[in-house]
Amino acid sequence: MDGAVKVEPASLVWKCASRSLGFATNLNHCPLSNNINACVCSKWEEVSIMDEKNIPIRTYQVCNVLEPNQNNWLRTDWIPRSGAQRVYVEVKFTLRDCNSLPGVTGTCKETFNLYYHESNEDRESYIKESSFIKVDTVAADESFTQVDVGDRIMKLNTEVRDVKVTTRKGFYLAFQDVGACIALVSVRVFYKTCPLTIRNLATFPDTVTGADTSSLVEVRGSCVNQSEEREEPKMYCGADGEWLVPIGGCLCSPGYEEKGSACKSCTAGFYKAKSSDPGCSKCPPHSHSLRDAATVCDCHSGYFRSDADPPSMACTQPPSAPQQLISVVNETSVVLEWTPPRRLGGRSDTSYSLECLICQTAGRLCLPCGSDVLFSPSQTGLKTTKVVVSELRAHTHYTFIVHARNGVSLASGAGATQSVSVSVTTNQAAPSPVSFVQATDVTRHSLSLSWQQPDRPNGVILEYEVKFYEKDQKERSYRIMRTFSQSVDVTGLSPLTVYVFHVRARTAAGYGEFSAPFEFSTNSDPFPLIGEGVNSAFLLLSVSGVGILLLISAAVFIISRRRSKYSKTKQDSEEEKHLNPGVKIYVDPFTYEDPDQAIHDFAKEIDVSSIHIEKVIGMGEFGEVCSGRLRVQGKREIYVAIKSLKAGYSDKQRRDFLSEASIMGQFDHPNIIRLEGVVTRCKPLMIITEYMENGSLDSFLRKHDGQFTVIQLVGMLRGIASGMKYLSDMNYVHRDLAARNILVNSNLVCKVSDFGLSRVLEDDPEAAYTTRIPIRWTAPEAITYRKFTTSSDVWSYGIVMWEVVSYGERPYWDMNNQDVMKAVEEGYRLPAPMDCPVVLHQLMLDCWERERAERPTFSQILNMLDKLIRNPGTLRRTGGDRYIMDIPTGSMLESGLGPEWLQSIGLERYRDTLAAAGYTSLDSLLGITHHQTAHAFNQQIYSQLQSVNAMKCF
Ligand code: AMP
Repeated sequence: MDGAVKVEPASLVWKCASRSLGFATNLNHCPLSNNINACVCSKWEEVSIMDEKNIPIRTYQVCNVLEPNQNNWLRTDWIPRSGAQRVYVEVKFTLRDCNSLPGVTGTCKETFNLYYHESNEDRESYIKESSFIKVDTVAADESFTQVDVGDRIMKLNTEVRDVKVTTRKGFYLAFQDVGACIALVSVRVFYKTCPLTIRNLATFPDTVTGADTSSLVEVRGSCVNQSEEREEPKMYCGADGEWLVPIGGCLCSPGYEEKGSACKSCTAGFYKAKSSDPGCSKCPPHSHSLRDAATVCDCHSGYFRSDADPPSMACTQPPSAPQQLISVVNETSVVLEWTPPRRLGGRSDTSYSLECLICQTAGRLCLPCGSDVLFSPSQTGLKTTKVVVSELRAHTHYTFIVHARNGVSLASGAGATQSVSVSVTTNQAAPSPVSFVQATDVTRHSLSLSWQQPDRPNGVILEYEVKFYEKDQKERSYRIMRTFSQSVDVTGLSPLTVYVFHVRARTAAGYGEFSAPFEFSTNSDPFPLIGEGVNSAFLLLSVSGVGILLLISAAVFIISRRRSKYSKTKQDSEEEKHLNPGVKIYVDPFTYEDPDQAIHDFAKEIDVSSIHIEKVIGMGEFGEVCSGRLRVQGKREIYVAIKSLKAGYSDKQRRDFLSEASIMGQFDHPNIIRLEGVVTRCKPLMIITEYMENGSLDSFLRKHDGQFTVIQLVGMLRGIASGMKYLSDMNYVHRDLAARNILVNSNLVCKVSDFGLSRVLEDDPEAAYTTRIPIRWTAPEAITYRKFTTSSDVWSYGIVMWEVVSYGERPYWDMNNQDVMKAVEEGYRLPAPMDCPVVLHQLMLDCWERERAERPTFSQILNMLDKLIRNPGTLRRTGGDRYIMDIPTGSMLESGLGPEWLQSIGLERYRDTLAAAGYTSLDSLLGITHHQTAHAFNQQIYSQLQSVNAMKCF
C-alpha cells in the first residue's frame, strides 16, 4: 500500500470528561435520566493495570453488570479533523464474558456503542446524548472469563470503525456502556493519505483520501525540477491510500536527462537537444560542449552547422572546388563537365551553380551573360556534374565558373565558395529557326507571307527560303521561293486550298532549320480581305485543336477504363451500393452524446447472476479477459468470453471500453465475433462475447506450424474475407485488421474481432497516436495522412494473408517500423512465404498496390478465394515462374467436378460413381448429407467432403 497512516496522537490524550467538571459533582448534577450526560464519566473509572508484558497502563473501565438500565458515557476531547474526510477509530479493549460472572441475571451485556458528534467548538462541556450519532455497536471477538489480578488471562480485542466527518472542524467520540464489563485500553484515531510520490517525473503531494470508500481524488502532479510537461500529469488517490491510474507525465528539459526520479544535467562533452530525446548523447564529431546542461554542442573552429542540421549531426565544412572542368563547344552550345570536389566537407548535399560571363577577349573584360542563355538541366542547385549551355552567340568568348556549395557554405566564417572556371569561344552557327509566320492579303490564288527574323541569327542573314505545298499533297511536291526581305507574295495558288509553309534563313554558316509548319488557306475571293488569312489559319488551328482535344479525351477515357483490373468492378459495386438503400450502415457510437444510450441501443444488458466466470484467458487493453458460462432464462447455457473494465477507470476509459460493445452489437455475421451482451448496472463493467476456443489466430498458427493443408489455410482466409466484406458493406473501417485480432473457434472458423482501435486514431489526428498505428499492417496512405478506408483494410488483409500462409511469422520480421515504412514506400513488398501458392502471393501483391483504387475489393477477394477452393489445382503452383492468375471459369470448374479437383481432394477414383449418382456439380456435392453418403459412398468420401464443406462455410 502506498498510503501512509496518519496518527493524531495529541487529540488522543484521553481525559475523562469528569475531570473538567468533577466526577462526583457531575453525577449529582447531571442525573442520567435527564440525558444531559455528555461530559460525564458516570460509572467509567480510570484504572491502572498491567499489560501482558507487565507494564502498567491506564485504562477506562466500567463493570456495572448487576444493575439494570445502565447508560454510562465516556467522551473524548475535541479532535480536529485536519482536512480529513473519513477517519478511522481503532479501539483496543477487553470484555468480560457474562457467563463467567456469578450471580448476574439478564442485566449483563457484552457490547458497547461507539458514537461521534461533529463540532466547530473545541470545548463543549455539555452535549446532548441525542446530538451524538451512532457509529456502531462493538462486540468483542474474544471475551475473558476470569480476573485474577496476579495471573490474568486478558484477551485484548482490536476493532476498527470508520466515520465520514466532513461538516465541521472537528468531532468528539463517545463510548456508551449499557451494562457490560469493559476495559478500554487504547483508542487511536487516524485518517489515510496517499503519500507524496513521484511518477513519470511529476510530483504528487501527500493527499488525503476521499470521504467515501469508493471515491477517488483526482490530483494533478507538478513536473520535477528541470522537466516540462509532456501531457498533463494526473493520478487518482484511492480511498485506501493507494495511487491509481497515472496519466500523462513530464520529460526532462533540454540539457537534462532522467536519473532516478529526477532530471540531472548532461555533463561536459554531452548534450540533449529536445525534451523528447531519450537521454544525453555524446557530442557529434567535430563539436564539443564545455559546460554542463548543454542543449547543443559547439562546432570546432573551421567546422559549421547549417540551420537545417539537427544537433545530432556532425559539424561539417564547405566543399573544396570542383575538379577537372572540361568544355566541349558545339557551334553555339557548350557542354561543361567536371568531377566532384576532393573534399565534400563531411556532407552529402553538395550542389553546383554556374556563372556565365561574356567577354571581349578570351577570359578578359567580362560581363554577365544575358537571360537568353539556356542551361540544361539548370544553372543553379545542380546535383549533376554536367550542364549543357545553349543559345549562346556565335563567335563569342565566354567564361564559365562552376561553384561548389553545400549546406554550410553560407555559414558565417565559412568563407567564399570554391570554384573552377573555363573560357571558351563559340563557333559560327547557322541561324535559329524562324518562329513566327503570318499571311495577309489572301485571295483565291495568292497571299502575302511575312515573318520575323530568327531569335538568334548567328551572323548576317543573306537570304530566306520559303517552302510550301498543298496540305493534301503532303511534301510529295512543293515549291521553293527565295527572298532577301522578310516577306514574299505567293501567287499561282489554287482557290479554297490549304497550304503548308516553312521558312528558313541562311547566313555564311549555311541554312538554319526550317520553321515549324504554318497553314493558310486560299479563299474564293478575287480580292484580298483584310485579316482573312489569319482567320482561316486560326479556324484551321481551332478545328485541329478541337480534334486534338477530342483525341486526348478519347485516350484518357480509354486509359482510365483500362487502368485497373479492379476499378471497373469496384465502380460497379459502388453503384450497387447506391442503388441498394436497404443496406444496413454502421452507426458510430461516438456520435451519441450519451454513450449509455448507444450501449442501450446496440447491446443487451445481462444480469450478472447469469454469468459464471471460470478462468482468466487473456489480457485486454482495459483488463482481464476470462472465459465462463452464460445462462439466459429460457436458453441453453453457452460458453462465453468476458472482458472486464479494471477498477479505477476514467470516464473516457469507460466510454472507450463500452464503445467496442456498441460497435460489435451492430454486427451479425458468422465471421464477426458475436456480442452476447454487457453488464453496466454493476461493477466491474463487462462485455460478454461468444467464446472462441482456439484464441487468437496468430498464436494458434504458431502453435500448429505446418499442420494445415493449403486449402485449409485458404478456408481460414475466406472466412476473414467474408467477415471483412460484411463490415465494408456496412461502411465500417476496421483499421486494425491483423491475425492477432482474428479469433478461432473449435471448428477452425475465423472471426474478426477487436473493434477498439478505430476511434482512438480518429479522435486525434496529431502525431501523439502515431505509435498506436500498427505500422506493419497499415497501408501507406493511412500512415502518412490518416486515410483509413476499406481499401486500407484490404492492404491489412494482404498482410493477414501473409501471416496465415507463413503460420504466424511476424510481417517484415525484426525490421524496425521506420525501416518498414521506408521499404514499403520504396516499393518493397513481402516475398511469398515458404510453399505459398503463386496465386495467393499475387493476391497479396494486389492488396498492396500503392494506389488504393487498384486494390481489389473484399467482394473480389472473396470471389477469388471461392474459385481457388473450387479449383485447388491452381494452388499447387508455388514459387518458380510468375503467372497471372487466370482461373478458368468454364462449366467444369464453376459447376462441374473436374478430375483435377477430385484428385486434389483424393476422390478422383469416385468420379464415375459420383457422376452415376447424379452429382455433377460442386454445389450438389457439397450439399450431400451424411444419410446420402452412408448409402452411396463409403465413409472416406463423406469425411473428405465434410472438410471441403467446412472450408466452404468458413
Ligand atoms: P482483446 O482485448 O480483444 O485483445 O483480448 C485479449 C485476448 O483475450 C485475446 O488475444 C484472446 O487471446 C483473448 N480473447 C478475447 N476475446 C476472446 C473470445 N471471445 N474467445 C476467446 N478468447 C478471447
